Amino acid sequence: MNDILSVNHLSIGFDHSYGHTSVIDDISFNIEKGQTLCIVGESGCGKSLTSLAVMGLLPSGGRIHDGQIVYKGQDISRKSQKELSEIRGKEISMIFQEPMTALNPLHSIGYQVSEVLRVHQKVSKHEAKEKAIEMLRLVGIPSPEKRFAQYPHELSGGMRQRVMIAMALICHPGLLVADEPTTALDVTIQAQILELIQNLKSQFDMALLLITHDLGVVSETADKVVVMYAGQVVEYGDTKELFTEPKHPYTKGLINSIPKMDEDTEVLPTIKGSVPSPDEMPMGCRFVTRCPFAMEICSKIKPPKITDGHEVHCWLYSSEDVKGENPSVDKV
Ligand code: SF4
Ligand code: MG
Repeated sequence: MNDILSVNHLSIGFDHSYGHTSVIDDISFNIEKGQTLCIVGESGCGKSLTSLAVMGLLPSGGRIHDGQIVYKGQDISRKSQKELSEIRGKEISMIFQEPMTALNPLHSIGYQVSEVLRVHQKVSKHEAKEKAIEMLRLVGIPSPEKRFAQYPHELSGGMRQRVMIAMALICHPGLLVADEPTTALDVTIQAQILELIQNLKSQFDMALLLITHDLGVVSETADKVVVMYAGQVVEYGDTKELFTEPKHPYTKGLINSIPKMDEDTEVLPTIKGSVPSPDEMPMGCRFVTRCPFAMEICSKIKPPKITDGHEVHCWLYSSEDVKGENPSVDKV
């Protein structure tokens, strides 16, 4: 197998004085070398938390309760922060939604890019500066020698995101994690940044874990897609197959809500309702409160994983006898 990252049965929860809340429940997926995998779903489905877990950056109170995160054959889910800090930025890097929060306003951009290299590799200050300038040039910063000494506030949002990408890639990581990397940018800049990420991904032969709620982006960039709903994987497979033959009612709802160029629709269909909060998860299928195909069993028992071409977690595709107890399955 050529997996660079494999997430196996990962469960994450938060401990409180009054108990425990499970947020991510038994998710599994894998990314091969050089592949792009997108995680999609509405806000609150656990996409960002999954990406933070891969980085070993869970927010305080968050804990991995079960499962593994395996990077290049090593389980990194139980490593100490010290061990993780050697992997972060060097082997696995991340770019965030809002570059201003990730950049230090008190240091020049050149200093911040070269510092990443100096933390992970034994290079002289001069060599780090040369490489940082080269990297800034690669991400499309004009006149990087001059820009080197500028501070984050002197740059536009798009330029700051380019600096973040330079910091993320200067050590040539094997995996880049990007959480909604263009959401905070102007629409015109979004496409440029995505294209830049795609180009650098091929150039650096990295794998990409891209978190997005934009299915248009997914169809253009991803090799594989994980659809998450309320902390669980509901569908997982090759992009082309998933788009041409979506199986889960939630995935179908997401795909139906993409604007189509050739149709003059005024109102796009949306999925009614909202994602339940972790404290109010329905029993059985978590999508049951919003699903037009819900059957009796759906509110009682967690749907099984069915692999038919690709993976789907839904009672509609189960051949178990138990499904027969409700005739509404005919609706499909
Ligand atoms: Fe809908 Fe039932 Fe499938 Fe859940 S398991 S998505 S409620 S049909
Ligand atoms: Mg998020």
